[in-house]
Amino acid sequence: MIDLKLGRMSPAESERLRAFDGEHVWHPYAPMPATSPAELVVEASGVRLTLADGTELIDGMSSWWAAIHGYRNPVLDAAVTAQLGKMAHVMFGGLTHPAAIGLAERLVALTPEPLTKVFFADSGSVAVEVAIKMALQYWRAQGRPERHRLLTLRGGYHGDTFGDMAVCDPVNGMHQLFSDVLARHVFAPSPPLGYLAEPDEAYLKELSALADAHAHELAGIIVEPVVQGAGGMRFYAPEYLRALRDLADEHGVPLILDEIATGFGRTGELWGCDHAELAPDIMCVGKALTGGYMTMAATLCTERVATTLTSGEGGALMHGPTFMANPLAASVASASIDLLLSRDWRAEVDAIEAILTARLEGAADLPGVADARVLGAIGVIEAEEPVDTRAVQELVMDHGVWLRPFGKLVYAMPPYVCTEDETGHIADALYAVAESLGA
Ligand SMILES: *Cc1c(COP(=O)(O)O)cnc(C)c1O
Repeated sequence: MIDLKLGRMSPAESERLRAFDGEHVWHPYAPMPATSPAELVVEASGVRLTLADGTELIDGMSSWWAAIHGYRNPVLDAAVTAQLGKMAHVMFGGLTHPAAIGLAERLVALTPEPLTKVFFADSGSVAVEVAIKMALQYWRAQGRPERHRLLTLRGGYHGDTFGDMAVCDPVNGMHQLFSDVLARHVFAPSPPLGYLAEPDEAYLKELSALADAHAHELAGIIVEPVVQGAGGMRFYAPEYLRALRDLADEHGVPLILDEIATGFGRTGELWGCDHAELAPDIMCVGKALTGGYMTMAATLCTERVATTLTSGEGGALMHGPTFMANPLAASVASASIDLLLSRDWRAEVDAIEAILTARLEGAADLPGVADARVLGAIGVIEAEEPVDTRAVQELVMDHGVWLRPFGKLVYAMPPYVCTEDETGHIADALYAVAESLGA
């Protein structure tokens, strides 16, 4: 039985649940049955997760970029509860509601000016599917169906559905497993590493030549701005994003920015594209949109994209998830945005950046460490070899921290509400991992 007061559970019950989980419940990117057991979380509050045995861990992952305000935030809890008192859900076909309209008002106001049309999706992956569909329909509406390929960067990650996988990094995204069924897009090499790196002229020429070579069939350009997240946790100079904006203009194709990981302040600016002071034609947001409470994402586009595709065959964007614009998710998203803007989020992210930078100093020089880097509230240790996930997790849990490494990458993106002390714990755990790599 769960002891609600303590959030604890008898060891026998905890064992039973974990055993069932390992045998029957699929986890992300995991085999079935599981080869290593998942930790059992019974509660979360503030920036801490409580495990079944009462262990508390500071969540250095913000539940995959999402829980920027931490857990059980009273304002967000109240937003969900208030909406629950009105309705949990209603279909969005032919019906609308104040929760969706309120969120759309906020997104239009908060995103770069040309983005004025909002499509609500039920996950980040679907938001990217919708963005791709918008770009393709944009050309079909103009009688140019041969424009069906997207230019993108190696090292990218855009979600796990088939349309999205086709624009993910071909190696990380395991294209070889699905090579016969994935759409064939155009891949430029990853931009040179480093937010502050001087622009590499040879690389810029290569980008431009690639766009030229495929100009006749190009439907759009899709990238993550400034930070390539799950595809490699790579930071690149805003100059390259500007070059992509210019190429999109030159070829008259929409620039799609996937801000699902970078949005809502994570990189130190509200949007990744703010680093380059430019606006996309289509933009995807998700992850932190609801403060980590519910699954919801959105695809925004310009008036031009919307009216062009609407003028074509069908006269509509052909997409409509059952749980589109879910009122509970939309309400908590609006509350999360208001909460973010009510605080000095920039100072919070800057403080996390300063602590991560200071405590990871020297980590890059340790044996077994290929690189250590920080941008905004993102800290990354890149190992020379793939890490032992289980061993790394045990080490950081000994430091009272939760992190989830993948491949050669051990990284943190703390909730913005972490205190100095809590961020320090996360940074120390990262440094401890770096020290352990050469051992
Ligand atoms: C996580 C992520 C997605 C996919 O979002 P889901 O909600 O997991 O479907 C797409 N693009 C980027 C950049 C992401 O980080």
